[in-house]
Amino acid sequence: MLQQHFPLTDRNTLRLVSEASAYAGFRSLAELIQLQGYATRAQLPLRVLGGGSNVLLSEKVNALVVQSESCRIQLVMQNDEVSLVDVDAGMNWHQWVEQSIAFGHGIENLALIPGTVGAAPVQNIGAYGVEVGEFIDSVTGYQLSTRQLRTFSAAECRFGYRDSVFKRELRNDFVILRVRFRLPRRFSPVVSYAPLNSLNAAEITPASLIQAVTDIRMSKLPDPANVPNAGSFFQNPVVSDECARQLAARYPDLPVYAQPHGAKLAAGWLIDQCGFRGKPFGPVAMYEKQALVLTTSSGATLADVRALQKRVQDSVYEKFGVWLEPEPQLFA
Ligand code: FAD
Ligand code: NAP
Repeated sequence: MLQQHFPLTDRNTLRLVSEASAYAGFRSLAELIQLQGYATRAQLPLRVLGGGSNVLLSEKVNALVVQSESCRIQLVMQNDEVSLVDVDAGMNWHQWVEQSIAFGHGIENLALIPGTVGAAPVQNIGAYGVEVGEFIDSVTGYQLSTRQLRTFSAAECRFGYRDSVFKRELRNDFVILRVRFRLPRRFSPVVSYAPLNSLNAAEITPASLIQAVTDIRMSKLPDPANVPNAGSFFQNPVVSDECARQLAARYPDLPVYAQPHGAKLAAGWLIDQCGFRGKPFGPVAMYEKQALVLTTSSGATLADVRALQKRVQDSVYEKFGVWLEPEPQLFA
């Protein structure tokens, strides 16, 4: 049902105060097309929201905001090697991870990431050495500008580090309706990241890996239900090898991870060194247990978040000469 002047404060994990001009859930392509007709007549852009865990909402979102309410999981093909499974965009991501192990493996390390299946390809979600793009066969959705249903192969999705074509050229123009996963049936756990490398690879089961990741995350990251946040607020910067060498010479404790091109620095470490961890700035702060996570308290608005974002960016740049880019997308 379409509703006017719809509050979005409860629909984003930062709990930023926000209201949409109009809002509706949809369960099928036909319903989405009907909603596009309404938006055109009302001269409103159409914007798709998932679980609201990676967005920065403005106080007034002058748009028809839509959310997928479709959560089906369908096995398309299975052989000895692989399962192909279609999952609808509205499915909760963590619930899908828990159910995925009945079909195949690979996404266990992505347990407990908030949000929906439909948003997962947008920033190619990743954690503990695994990115979702490695396990996506194709993405199907509706392009608003051409009014066409389109399917993108994994190569066409152009997945990168927290990046994809949906975040770039197709931003605000493509509503993902379902994701086809290609899950190998053989379980080969990835335990290269520090908190997982103490696990005994020979003894891990898919369910115990999901549990281990869940436990680690619960011990370290704030639960958005209690402490509003959007996960990592800044992306880890990738700098040239020369820049990384110079910084590492000056700051021997700086975490540096080699990349195919250049080196990745831990943004949380840079922010912590500038003294932001746990210090409140009005209703916003960088989290005391992980300086990369921005948290809010009651009544925070986008302006409060932007003010702290700028302070952090300027301080890190002044100290290290590295510019941090925010990870959550502006939703206006
Ligand atoms: P939203 O925040 O609602 O939307 C994000 C973007 O995707 C918006 O631009 C929106 O328009 C677009 N979008 C949403 N649905 C669709 C759709 N159906 N079609 C097209 N576009 C769509 N991210 C990681 O990568 N790794 C992590 O480990 C991780 N940990 C997190 C931990 C916490 C505590 C929190 C709060 C966030 C974390 N995140 C992490 C970020 C976030 O959970 C992911 O980016 C997630 O995929 C966002 O899903 P969502 O449904 O909430 O999307
Ligand atoms: P962490 O273990 O404290 O490590 C800090 C950063 O160092 C991470 O961001 C990670 O980069 C990088 N890193 C650590 N070990 C690495 C290795 N062996 N090789 C390459 N890079 C390595 O991180 P954390 O905050 O607890 O998060 C754990 C994982 O969950 C990370 O993968 C992180 O990306 C993910 N996470 C993401 C979000 C989000 O909102 N995007 C929020 C919470 C957690 P990468 O980020 O590139 O992995």
